[in-house]
Amino acid sequence: MALIVQKYGGTSVGDTDRILNVAKRIKGFVDNGDKVVVVVSARSGVTNELIARAKKINAFPEEREMDMLLAVGEQETIALTAMALHSLGVKAVSRTGAQAGIFTDMDYTRAHLVKITGGDIPERLAEGNVVIVAGFQGVNDAGNVTTLGRGGSDLSAIALAAILKADVCQIYTDVDGIYTADPRVVKKARKIPEMCYEELLEMASLGSKVMQARSVEFAQKYGVVFEVRSSFNNESGTIVKEEVASLEDVVISGVAVDKNQTKVTVRNIPDRPGACAEIFSVLGEAGIGVDMIVQNTSQAGKARLTFTVSKDDAPKAEKLLKDECAKLGGAEVCLTGDIAKVSVVGTGMRTHSGVAGKFFRALADSDINVDLITTSEIKISVGIDLEKADLAANVLHSAFGLDS
Ligand code: ASP
Ligand code: MG
Repeated sequence: MALIVQKYGGTSVGDTDRILNVAKRIKGFVDNGDKVVVVVSARSGVTNELIARAKKINAFPEEREMDMLLAVGEQETIALTAMALHSLGVKAVSRTGAQAGIFTDMDYTRAHLVKITGGDIPERLAEGNVVIVAGFQGVNDAGNVTTLGRGGSDLSAIALAAILKADVCQIYTDVDGIYTADPRVVKKARKIPEMCYEELLEMASLGSKVMQARSVEFAQKYGVVFEVRSSFNNESGTIVKEEVASLEDVVISGVAVDKNQTKVTVRNIPDRPGACAEIFSVLGEAGIGVDMIVQNTSQAGKARLTFTVSKDDAPKAEKLLKDECAKLGGAEVCLTGDIAKVSVVGTGMRTHSGVAGKFFRALADSDINVDLITTSEIKISVGIDLEKADLAANVLHSAFGLDS
């Protein structure tokens, strides 16, 4: 008998049949004597549809109203899931984020958790109920509904698992677990049985979007061990935890591809302290993340700065930087094309040498030219031509012995 927190993503509850299947799976745990808290997402596509509808009515909807609207998607699913359980004779109650005591700051559409109480979840569980909580939403001090950023149901589940001290936290999705690479791109990709938070974070931020990155950070901070697994079969998935005892010769755990980057170059920047700070502050204040920064000083005290932003942010970044360049006498900005970022990730890099050599050799042997490079302690990334991204992922996967 265990206390289990389960999260079902949008595709797992995508239609009524799937909701009934989820209910059957939950019933299996209840019949086994487990206490189950379920966090659900909106049906897949619903959140996007709601956003599109809002933008048709008003191109710049107020964020408070946006959250009021987006929270609807998850509320539909909690009610339907409770009804599905009732139809199977299982006691269940639904709870909104507010009712589950998920308190956030005032930052609408990307709110941060400030306190989680769980509301009356323990009492309802003790009465033999399954408690079904709306993911992605919370409530702020003004009593208004807030949302936790896209993919935020993962965070709701991890946070509830932490405060309820759940024995098990399962993240049910439409893939079997975390793979060494995207199986659609790399045919020889394999499921990773266990990995550590750090590696998943690098993979997630690199575009292997299995889980919301914030939720993985939260899990790491509070030591919540979780399993990513499929709601469409009974196979075990990928367990994510702090330390993974791996074989000595496993250096790289995965290859990630992000095809959503645009390269930005700012030329003729005065080569003086503070110039970069001004440029990146403008982007930071607008909530635009930058990556793969390269700077070089060219002729006559002028510097050139190249970096990437996500494709979606590119038009906004260009506009902001044009204004900023006007202040930085003579500097010019240009978007220099969409590129792919291909990375290898693995904590084994800390203790093994020769990783970079092998990485660049594999790319060179396939005639792949490298444009930008960035590294961290457990990652090497390159910016390359979009058309070469899949080839690069495959040759790196082979070179590091990941092929099945
Ligand atoms: N429904 C929200 C979204 O699509 C939250 C989630 O699915 O986790 O982003
Ligand atoms: Mg999701």
